[in-house]
Amino acid sequence: MDDKQKNILARHIRETIAALKEDIEAYRELTKPIAPDAAIGRLTRMEAIGSKSINEAALRKAEGKRTRLERALRDLDDPDFGLCRECEEPIPFARLMAMPESDLCVRCAEEQAH
Ligand SMILES: [Zn+2]
Repeated sequence: MDDKQKNILARHIRETIAALKEDIEAYRELTKPIAPDAAIGRLTRMEAIGSKSINEAALRKAEGKRTRLERALRDLDDPDFGLCRECEEPIPFARLMAMPESDLCVRCAEEQAH
């Protein structure tokens, strides 16, 4: 990966982290505890509890992705960054743009998935 690609990737990661931050704040808002005495009907309360757990899962997922992206941003200047941790071949730039947190090439990732 050359410096130009590295800059593009760094900007892309920063933009993704900024978007995730907004998502995380929205999910946090949606996962606030539901007051037991809130004047909502029983069905509405059950719906609220149901969507709360969905939003909690989405929140955890977004936070996990943000952590991995922040790590990728930190590691960007490492000589090993962008190399597959299994076969040590360069991970294609397009794959890094789609998944900056990936540390496996497509082939090794598919092998691990099976
Ligand atoms: Zn590989």
